[in-house]
Amino acid sequence: MPPTAPPVHVDLLSDTLTKPTDAMRRAMADAPVGDDVFGEDPTVRRLEARVAELLGHEDALFAPTGSMANQLCLRLHVGHGEELVADSLAHVLRAEMGAAAVLSGISSRSWVAEHGLLDAAQPLALMIPDGGTYQVNTRLVVVENTHNFGGGTVQPLDQIETLRAGTRDRGVAMHLDGARLWNAHVATGVPLDTYGRQFDTVSVCLSKGLGAPVGSVIAGSRDLMASARIWRKRFGGGMRQVGILAAAGLHALDHHVERLADDHARARRFADAAAAGRPGSVDPQRVQTNIVVLDVSGAGWAPAGFVEEAGRRGIRLYPVSATAVRLVWHLDVDDAGTDLAIETLVPLLESGPSS
Ligand SMILES: *Cc1c(COP(=O)(O)O)cnc(C)c1O
Repeated sequence: MPPTAPPVHVDLLSDTLTKPTDAMRRAMADAPVGDDVFGEDPTVRRLEARVAELLGHEDALFAPTGSMANQLCLRLHVGHGEELVADSLAHVLRAEMGAAAVLSGISSRSWVAEHGLLDAAQPLALMIPDGGTYQVNTRLVVVENTHNFGGGTVQPLDQIETLRAGTRDRGVAMHLDGARLWNAHVATGVPLDTYGRQFDTVSVCLSKGLGAPVGSVIAGSRDLMASARIWRKRFGGGMRQVGILAAAGLHALDHHVERLADDHARARRFADAAAAGRPGSVDPQRVQTNIVVLDVSGAGWAPAGFVEEAGRRGIRLYPVSATAVRLVWHLDVDDAGTDLAIETLVPLLESGPSS
């Protein structure tokens, strides 16, 4: 950021911004470590065992980023020239720089899901598991829960189950991009493994709302994770004394999961205030977790202009579409920060841009 940029008082840009707490740093400093490429880091092993159990799978594997975690799983399920299907706003399609095509030769198609909300009928209608010599074979459906660009949307369990029933016998695998599965679990009370067991592979992030500085984990069968270990090394993600990072993840699992409910309540409180100030800018009922997608077009704002004006007043946001901005609550935004965001942004929504 240029040195002249105004100070940021409330940073709602992303839940990746969280900084490790003092207690987390101590846990990292104290972690026993070893060479994880040789499978000898005891803290990484503990984290993998714990996440495998939480998600209802046989085994798990630590990965440096959520993108690599997803890409490892896509690579496991889909061969060169075969396809995955995912909704048009999916992170794997929109925000991983075409990695599935570039690294794994994967073709993809998508359907349009309002607010990212899963309707099982859409992927079931789209997939072609037996394309023969003319059509691309569908090998994988990707579901994102919660849905990032959809606005933190929680996917309905019954739709996931319907999708599972419709794909299982047709040789199509399912991957869960669960970067924020923790938020879905806390918002609904559905156990993590109830979600996890519906999928062949699951990826989760430790570095979003959970507040770890780095790290993701994938889970699946023992065989799939053994292959993923080889692909991780091939992708350049085999790390050595990485238990210091796994320790941050373990600390987050102990201390930072249930508190996600606070982020959800603050996001909802903001949405209530925004909807009262500018009806139609957001439907508070849709704000189920820590993300608010705010339509600023009704007030006459272009998202970039709204982001710039908010930035001048010390609130950092992200323009997420042609009409909307995204606000994300996390460990480092408290009630006072939420109040300030309301006091600053709601009047902007009410007045529109001054011309
Ligand atoms: C953040 C995120 C990821 C992973 O992103 P990285 O920046 O690579 O860690 C994957 N899926 C979703 C839905 C995300 O929000």
